[in-house]
Amino acid sequence: MCYPVKCAECAKTTWAGDGQHIEMVRSNVEAGQWCPGHAKTEKPQTRLFARFFSSSKQAEARAGERVA
Ligand SMILES: [Zn+2]
Repeated sequence: MCYPVKCAECAKTTWAGDGQHIEMVRSNVEAGQWCPGHAKTEKPQTRLFARFFSSSKQAEARAGERVA
């Protein structure tokens, strides 16, 4: 079963559960109060990768400075 839960990001209603009754939960929620969803796993990974990438670039730059 699925059940409504309050979204931690936008405070609207979203669902939790087995994913097979999403429309049933959604039909009981006002359209304006339904959370459209957020890219929960993608965003932090992208940010983490970006940070890692930029810090490794800085390390490269620092290494270059040391060599020069
Ligand atoms: Zn939300």
